[in-house]
Amino acid sequence: MSEVYKNAYSLELNKPLEPNEAYQLSIEKKLKENNKFQCSEDCDFQLILVNFGKKDYIQAPHYRSAKLEQSHTAGCTLMKEQAIARIGQREDSYSFTRNNSKITVELDLIKGLLVEVSNSKTTKTVTGSPTGSTSYTSSNGDSTDNTKKKELHKKIKSLKSLIDYYERVRQGELFDIVDRQGVPLNLENHFHDLRIHPELEEGLVKIYIADAWVALWGSNDNPYYHLKLTSECELMNVIAKPTLNMNKRSSIHRGVANKEKFLEKQARVGTKCKVYFFGSFILNESNDNFYINFDLNSQEALDFLIFFPY
Ligand SMILES: [Zn+2]
Repeated sequence: MSEVYKNAYSLELNKPLEPNEAYQLSIEKKLKENNKFQCSEDCDFQLILVNFGKKDYIQAPHYRSAKLEQSHTAGCTLMKEQAIARIGQREDSYSFTRNNSKITVELDLIKGLLVEVSNSKTTKTVTGSPTGSTSYTSSNGDSTDNTKKKELHKKIKSLKSLIDYYERVRQGELFDIVDRQGVPLNLENHFHDLRIHPELEEGLVKIYIADAWVALWGSNDNPYYHLKLTSECELMNVIAKPTLNMNKRSSIHRGVANKEKFLEKQARVGTKCKVYFFGSFILNESNDNFYINFDLNSQEALDFLIFFPY
């Protein structure tokens, strides 16, 4: 995903180049384009040089993946080297353990983790809002709730790591993902890509993948983010692009500052982004019109959303 590559193969000079070397050549205009790089001579995974040709920069020049949906060539030397480098590593997380390149998912993703995430909130439908929003009966922050909240954050963080591994496997990284019995686990079954399968079931908690636009609307003293999926979905015979309104101020809390910054930037540049959403969708009605909304409220929304730029 945001993986940094230490080296790249220049398609303009037909040789490997370190980032600083490539940067220097870009300043001297001996390299013309920032996207004429790939993983190695034998692997056509596209890379870009960050800060290509820029005189001033904050982050040191480095290589990054040029796009989200691509995969390393089978037999890629870098992937093999990275698998070797993982030997002896161990990672314990709430929902999985990793030994070397073997990831054992400890939970039944659907019956375990996700349902608990869903049950952690009590929903109440509010009508009369055209873009739709759901309000939640808020709990009174006693210690049990705080413990539950902490527990929930731990689970979400762990799930994020698992999503990251899922994407890395899709990009060609050599991981084996298995369940507790050691049977290969297809994480695809727990993810629902709305760009390919637009059918929704109300209240069905999954890890949804979609593309979205972000806008910043409202007045100066009450700005809110309007997130709208780029593709239409179907929920109980209603066909619409699901939306979510997030009050800018109330959505900011500990641990989500970077996500909020990302939303701000997306709203400014107006390009679509990729979004992962843990949760479910809900149908709202206003003036005889039906809307499909994310089942989230402003306060917690950013906990359940992960964004990636294209
Ligand atoms: Zn490669």
